[in-house]
This record gives sequence, structure tokens and C-alpha cells, in this order.
Amino acid sequence: MSDKLAEKRFGFTTTILHNDRRKAIEHGSLHKPVHTSVAFGYTDARQLASVFQGKEPGFRYGRQGNPTVAALEDKITRMEDGVSSICFATGMGAIGAVFQGLLRAGDHVITSSFLFGNTNSLWQTVAGQGVAVDFVDATDVAQVAAAITPSTRLVFAETIANPRTQVADLAKIGQLCRERGILFVVDNTMTSPYLFRPKSVGAGLVVNALTKSIGGHGMVLGGALTDTGEYDWSGYPHIPDNIKRTPPRQWGMAQIRAKGLRDFGASLAPEAAHHIAVGAETLALRMERASANALALARMLEADPRVAAVHYPGLPSHPQHNLSSELFRAHGFLLSFELRDGIDCFDYLNRLQVAIPASNLGDTRTLVIPVAHTIFFEMGAERRASMGIADSLIRVSVGIEDEADLLADFSEALPAV
Ligand SMILES: *Cc1c(COP(=O)(O)O)cnc(C)c1O
Repeated sequence: MSDKLAEKRFGFTTTILHNDRRKAIEHGSLHKPVHTSVAFGYTDARQLASVFQGKEPGFRYGRQGNPTVAALEDKITRMEDGVSSICFATGMGAIGAVFQGLLRAGDHVITSSFLFGNTNSLWQTVAGQGVAVDFVDATDVAQVAAAITPSTRLVFAETIANPRTQVADLAKIGQLCRERGILFVVDNTMTSPYLFRPKSVGAGLVVNALTKSIGGHGMVLGGALTDTGEYDWSGYPHIPDNIKRTPPRQWGMAQIRAKGLRDFGASLAPEAAHHIAVGAETLALRMERASANALALARMLEADPRVAAVHYPGLPSHPQHNLSSELFRAHGFLLSFELRDGIDCFDYLNRLQVAIPASNLGDTRTLVIPVAHTIFFEMGAERRASMGIADSLIRVSVGIEDEADLLADFSEALPAV
């Protein structure tokens, strides 16, 4: 059975559901079991040595690899149509490993200025450690092009930026990076591999915060990096000779697994990998439903005079609406909106009955948060203004509730005027 499965190419959800069975599992188990062992014993000590030397595949120690985590890595690789993936304890662990694995003092990074708050904070840290970091408006490829220097190692962008939903000009940035031989790293968390594959625009590395829509249930943290095979590592500096003995297409991930995952230790626990794998089975269904709910909610809010602005790429009024329609299968679960002056955003949030004030994204439940007062508070008013974040901005991570219940909840909480 597994041999026949191994050769076939299936659609997105069929692949996720049946991927573990491609490699025969004990007792015909349909799920990859949760392997909790930290150590892996060998009957032949020579085999242990050759696993350590990378001459044959195998597991050594739980921080660097685990069979349950490896099954999830394989699933994510197929979801992204990539070459290989590495899982991490969190999405930030994955992004941090790009920095630890690939950047050295004197390097230069170009990043979108519309970023997840902690990623913004991470790039500030990197800048303090001798890597030059330029923040640019990634909706405009000319700004990326203008920032390139001879030491530019990578360009980093999110697909749909949280919370203002700017859509980066991904295809043009990918083209630019390809022409200049620069690694393009795309954080695909807001779209997920169901709505968008960054490989299609030439991204070499893809970040997914598995905590969000891939897990979908908000029960565990996790992150992943996927090598799409689009970037040619043979010219990348900082790759040591021991890694250079392997084929160049493996260099980037080998370096990140050693310097990022092994040395810094943000390893995904096998139980967490199992929970994420179960959640991933329904990713496509949830993304369809949440995207449809988000569009209906965005349309309703935009038509209401008590709402000052709605930011959602699915609305024709969104500046990158056409780009979003070209790139993504649907416009996603993330929207944000501003209430008219005089309506207190805290009072409004307190009147919601279905949506929950909480800080997570891609959950099955609808979550709302007053951005300027919480997740983007630390960065200060000036940086918030540069990112277009108004004091009354409310971010909504739209869930899979029944549409009528959601629309009623958001509209009934608006005060009568
Ligand atoms: C949440 C998030 C991350 C970080 O993921 P964690 O699992 O919370 O560490 C990174 N990027 C984006 C776009 C996110 O939304």
C-alpha cells in the first residue's frame, strides 16, 4: 500500500491525510505515533557512528530530530511543494534560526516594515549585533531594489501583513531576488500553504507559524522553515566545509539544522507535532470557511457608517485587492477596522459575545484585539504611525463560526447613533 501511495500525486487535503502512510507505520496505524524517546539506540555501534557522520539517515538525539516531528516536517514540505522542512518550538524559533544559521556581522538584510510585532523586534536585535537591517515598504518593489547592497544576504516579507493587511509585491520581489541572486524569505503564516505557495514567486525559504492556521486549534505552539528548492545555495557565504561535502541544494537546511535548531535548541516537542499534524488535516476546510466569513464581515463593516475604515484584501477598496486576487486562492482570515471617533474601542470589544478579546491568529474561534494598546504597544507611537496603526484599530482573526452569528455579534456591539 505505501509503495503505491509513494508514487502518486494527490490534491492538497488528500496528501495531508495520507502522507504518514506513505512510509509503512507499525500495526497499520493511520497516524504517525508520538515517539517520546530522546535517545535512539543502535545494535551496531558502527551504524551509530555513520548516522552521526551523516553517511546514513537515522535519529541521534531528540533536540536535532524525532520521528513524529520528521513526519510533520515531511507533511509541511508537501504542503509547500518544497524540498525539505525543519520544525521549531515556535514560529519565532523558526525565524530566529534563519538569523542564527545564515547571517553574520557585516551582512545586510532587507525586510518589509509591515511585520508581525515580534519579528520587528527580532530584526532590531539583529541590527544590534552587527547585521545591517533596512526596513522598506514591500508593497513597492522599487523600494526593495533601491535598498540592495553588495552584502545583502536576504529579503524578508510577509504575505498579508498583520494587522493592516498590506500585501507585499511578492512576484516582483521574487523576480528581483532571482536576478540578483539574493535569498527571498517569505513568512506565509497569514495565508498558509493552502491559500498561497511562496515557491510560486521564487521564495527560497518559507516560514510558517504552525501555531496559527496550520494547527488551527490554538492548543500548541510550533513553527517551520521549508526550503522550496528555488534558491541556489552554491554561492552562499558562511557555509562550512563539512556541509559543503553534501549537494548544494541541501546546504541551507543543513546549516540551519545545525546552527539554528541544534545549537539554539528551539526544538518542537513530539506531542506538539502530533497536535499540529491532526489540525493540519482540516486546514483547507477551515481556510475556505474563515476566508468566506472574513469577506462577509468586512463587507458588512465597510457598509456601516459607524465604522471609519476596514482593511481586508478581499474588498475592492483595498489598495492591493487585485494583487491579492492574483496571488491567493482566497483573501484569508485576517482583517482590521477602525471605529468612528467617539466610539470607544474597549467598550465595543466588551460588548462582543462571540468574538473573544485574545492574542492569537488562525484559531477556529474568532479573536479580536485592540492592536495599539497590546501587541504593538511596545514599539511606540511613532513606529505605529509609520505602519499605519491607528489608536482605535481592532484586529480580527476570523474563525469558522456560523456566518450569521458573527455578523450579528459585530453589528449588535456597535452603539446606536
Ligand atoms: C504568530 C506569528 C509568528 C510567530 O509565531 P509563534 O508561534 O507565535 O512564535 C511569526 N510570523 C507571523 C506572521 C505570525 O503571525
